[in-house]
Amino acid sequence: MQDHEHLAELSQLMEAIADRRDDLIALTQDLIRIPTLNPPGDCYRDICEYLDLRLSKHGFSTELIRAHGAPGDSEKYPRWNVIARREGKFSGECVHFNSHIDVVEVGSGWTADPFGGALIDGKIYGRGACDMKGGLAASIIAAEAFIATYPEFHGAIEISGTADEESGGYGGVAYLAEKGFFDPKRVQHVIIPEPLNKDRVCLGHRGGWWAEIETFGEIAHGSMPFLGDCAVRHMSAVISKFEADLFPAMAQRRTEMPVVPEGARQSTMNINSIHGGQPEQDDDYTGLPAHCVPDSCRIVIDRRFLVEENIEDVRGEVTGLLDQMKNDRPKFDYALRELNRVLPSMTDKSAPIAASIAKQIEKVLGKEAEFVASPGSYDQKHIDRIGKLKNCVAYGPGILELAHKPDEYIGVADMMVSVEVMARSLAQLLLPSKE
Ligand SMILES: [Zn+2]
Repeated sequence: MQDHEHLAELSQLMEAIADRRDDLIALTQDLIRIPTLNPPGDCYRDICEYLDLRLSKHGFSTELIRAHGAPGDSEKYPRWNVIARREGKFSGECVHFNSHIDVVEVGSGWTADPFGGALIDGKIYGRGACDMKGGLAASIIAAEAFIATYPEFHGAIEISGTADEESGGYGGVAYLAEKGFFDPKRVQHVIIPEPLNKDRVCLGHRGGWWAEIETFGEIAHGSMPFLGDCAVRHMSAVISKFEADLFPAMAQRRTEMPVVPEGARQSTMNINSIHGGQPEQDDDYTGLPAHCVPDSCRIVIDRRFLVEENIEDVRGEVTGLLDQMKNDRPKFDYALRELNRVLPSMTDKSAPIAASIAKQIEKVLGKEAEFVASPGSYDQKHIDRIGKLKNCVAYGPGILELAHKPDEYIGVADMMVSVEVMARSLAQLLLPSKE
């Protein structure tokens, strides 16, 4: 194809996108108005049926899949997912857009209706507006505009709406990956439109290791603590040990991963919670506490690690310190219960999908794309580890820092930029003569 013909056609694609601006807004609002709160996992069936209807109308064949037996799945809160596929006219590769359909709790501090989807000054407000119903809507509009402009494309386009990303993705992408939906034989490129900003390509994420540590003591009367053994003091010694040895060691470990924000470009650990002794009473309880030496104290730790670290070493570093304390501190004993583990994932920036998105960002915005990695994990882990599909990135509109905040919103202009980037990337990957 001649260059001028190519330009003329791309201008048709840009026109098809411009024509769909109102549709993009309405679609985003509709999605926000379905309150898919997770936990508990509300309205998954409703949003899947909505997407099913929408995509069937545009020539996709669709399937609703319930993650039977996945964590959280029940008759009251079934884990529904939708997957839609549109075949092109000729054989070729498949580009898959995966978005999670769940949103986190509302929290306080809102001035807008969290499920109202109000459009004010070019921004659409609501829980999930940026994380990530705006991204889902952008990918649908990109696909529809592309198909309308190039009905004779090569390969296939898939769009999935999946459950439970906010709680680990086991009833969503993990389940679908186990069923073979992300087998590299049927899907070659995956874009996850998480809100990483319209000019950044996210290559992957750090790993996570979560554990509960319990220290033990012996109950006795609080007036004679020497007759018992205080589990809270043992835990205090654990935390002091972490402060003295573990935190400084982690701060030394820097990564080659381009994690944003900068502070997360190293190993980190959060102590999520601490509890020892008697359970806390309700606010309306007016009695005084009883006098007891606590015989148990528990903390939950959230250790984020780097692609350069090994999960067994991460675990071994913590248990090593605790075992050492057993020798050094009289009567010290502990139990460690692993709660969850997620391995890091990192796509190469020269991978076809990463390179394509970066190139189209540059064409649309006239500046070089930034390659980043995420401090927390998202569904790429399952596509990588279970699906064995490495050609996966996150790219979507929305400001990362607004996710999970009150008055979360998505800018319509940002969404339009992302639609252009996604649609141009489809043109590059699914039209052999384009680049
Ligand atoms: Zn998200």
